[in-house]
Amino acid sequence: MKRLVVISNRVQQLNQGPGGNQGGLAVALLAALKERGGVWFGWSGSTVPEFTGEIAYEHEGPTTTAVIDLEPQDIDEYYNGFANRTLWPLFHYRVDLTEFERDFEGGYARVNHRFADTVAPLIEEEDLVWVHDYHLVPLGGELRRRGVANRLGFFLHIPWPPTDLLVSLPSHRRLVEALFAYDVVGFQTADWLENFRHYVTTQLDGTVGEDGLVTVGDRTIRAIPAPIGIETAEFEAAAQTQAAAFARDRMYMSATGRSLIVGVDRLDYSKGLPERFAGYERFLAQHPDRRGLVYMLQIAPPSREKVDTYQEIRAALDGLSGRINGEYADIDWTPLRYVNKGYPRPELAGVYRAARVGLVTPLRDGMNLVAKEFVAAQDPRDPGVLILSRFAGAAAQMTDAVLVNPYSADEMSEAILRALTMPREERIRRWESLIDCVRREDVHWWCDLFLDALEDADVAAVA
Ligand code: UDP
Repeated sequence: MKRLVVISNRVQQLNQGPGGNQGGLAVALLAALKERGGVWFGWSGSTVPEFTGEIAYEHEGPTTTAVIDLEPQDIDEYYNGFANRTLWPLFHYRVDLTEFERDFEGGYARVNHRFADTVAPLIEEEDLVWVHDYHLVPLGGELRRRGVANRLGFFLHIPWPPTDLLVSLPSHRRLVEALFAYDVVGFQTADWLENFRHYVTTQLDGTVGEDGLVTVGDRTIRAIPAPIGIETAEFEAAAQTQAAAFARDRMYMSATGRSLIVGVDRLDYSKGLPERFAGYERFLAQHPDRRGLVYMLQIAPPSREKVDTYQEIRAALDGLSGRINGEYADIDWTPLRYVNKGYPRPELAGVYRAARVGLVTPLRDGMNLVAKEFVAAQDPRDPGVLILSRFAGAAAQMTDAVLVNPYSADEMSEAILRALTMPREERIRRWESLIDCVRREDVHWWCDLFLDALEDADVAAVA
């Protein structure tokens, strides 16, 4: 079995101890690294006044993590700049929020060079190299230029936008062509893959062949859909722990018999939180008889606070939640609990289990893992109902959720009523179909799917 080199913007620390809060992706990649041996390389999260390229290592058995510090200017231009002010909004279909700055592109190129310079010497001849996400699109090409002839894979965790939107990026061509340095490129859904193929055939004069092969000029890559899953077994077990039971009981006690509608999202404009609040507000307005019988809990830990659009969405939500509570609250009832902090997954599992409805309504999302975690946390005998946006990647797999258009407050209001009044047999039937998929297509399945494709790939010629 070949050794694995994983490269991503951030690296999950080893030795987190029992209180650690590893995401499913980190768990799966660490499991793959443990099985195969190898290195996980990325940014440390810290800055130094001047870039040195010095690597800090941590080892655990056959797994090594290797991190570098970047300069403050790198973080401004690469991380908060091109990655989070340009690519993130554009790839989530928000051209209106996208900033186009040459400096950002310069910083993005510089950091990808720096990553390539420092990681290239760590790559051994037979290693599989797996690069993650929109921060590092050009890295494959940079590695090839440094003589790396290994199998190179790239996985995009976020959506791929329609061609008409992507071409608004001045450097769109360079960005997409850079993907042809890899051997395998993975997308979350067939829809994002289709958008990619459309771009390649209409803008790059490329061709699409059998078995996911896509050719531009003399380069052929395999472009595959590979929907990421969660650590289902572990999450189901987490839902049975004391921490989960404690969180669940806390919810039950404070609910005083009311039905809980729950949302859990990073505070990000892609998650559709103002629209979700508007949908819930519409529900309260249209169903006076239901007021006082339900309450909504929205957990929204702040993220990317240095980026203006994130400060704006936060201010907008403060206003909206205040307005809803001002309008509908009673002396003994708060219709909306809005919490700006994060919780460890076992506690979230308990909160999900206490909920009658999970409201997962992003305007656009590469996958959305909360939807899968909500399902994994339910009590099989009395499961809650998942309301899921049609525009989340997860909707392609989770067709037995109640699917909604998150832009429509009326649809959302109807879905909430439907979920609250859904007979138990129907809830069980839908949940069984959902959990079946969440169990079968978990994060280990995803990891194997991608790595098998990468192992099978023909090795690229060095540019
Ligand atoms: N999460 C968490 N604590 C919180 C809120 C979220 O651990 O307070 C986790 C959540 O359980 C999920 C991840 O963060 O695993 C969010 O992943 P998702 O794909 O839903 O959205 P993203 O934030 O990656 O856009």
